[in-house]
Formats: sequence, structure tokens, C-alpha cells
Amino acid sequence: MKTCLVVDDSKVIRKVARHILETLNFQVSEAGDGAEALQHCQQTSPDVVLLDWNMPVMSGMEFLRALGDAAVAPRPKVVFCTTENGIAHIKAAIEAGADEYVMKPFDRDTLASKLQIVGVC
Ligand SMILES: [Mg+2]
Repeated sequence: MKTCLVVDDSKVIRKVARHILETLNFQVSEAGDGAEALQHCQQTSPDVVLLDWNMPVMSGMEFLRALGDAAVAPRPKVVFCTTENGIAHIKAAIEAGADEYVMKPFDRDTLASKLQIVGVC
């Protein structure tokens, strides 16, 4: 079973993402900010991270940079979540190490196709 870490400060979004991912046969963990996510990755590296941009404590961008600096092996694939308003962030996120992005709100088919692109689904 593939593992996915859902990183979002919204409990509702984590719940929705978890539900979709479980129907895609992922084992799901959750983190409420980048710092929690980094700690999780250092303990157990997931196959893929679904990453929010705006979060307290440590943002998605800061998480990407920290993950690049941390010796996390194997390095998880990262699918970055953005909104239509945040589309300018995509280039910066890809440059910082994100593998793909998905627009919020996403549905099952969209998320599945993004996970396929990064090779985990
Ligand atoms: Mg957020």
C-alpha cells in the first residue's frame, strides 16, 4: 500500500483529501503545518506528500526548502495544492522541488491523474 501525507491547516480539507486518497488505496497520514510534516517525513518518509501553500508555523514553500535541506530518503514526491488566486506560486513551488500541482478544490479524478503523473498511483 502506498503512503500519502496530507499537509493542510484546514481539518476539513484534510478530511476530504483523506477520503479521496483512501478510495485510491493510499494509507493516509495528516499534518497541520509544514513543521509537523517535516518531522513526519524525517521519521517515516511517505511515497507522496499533498502539500498546502498557506499554513501557520511553516508554509508549504518553507517545507519544500526544508525538505531539500533535510536528509530525507527516499525523498517523497510532492504534489502542491494551490488556488486559482495562487497560480503565480506554481513556478516558485516547482523550482523549490515540487513535482506537480493540483488546483483546489480538487476531485478524485483530478487528484488521481496528478498522482499518476508523479508515478505513485
Ligand atoms: Mg491553508
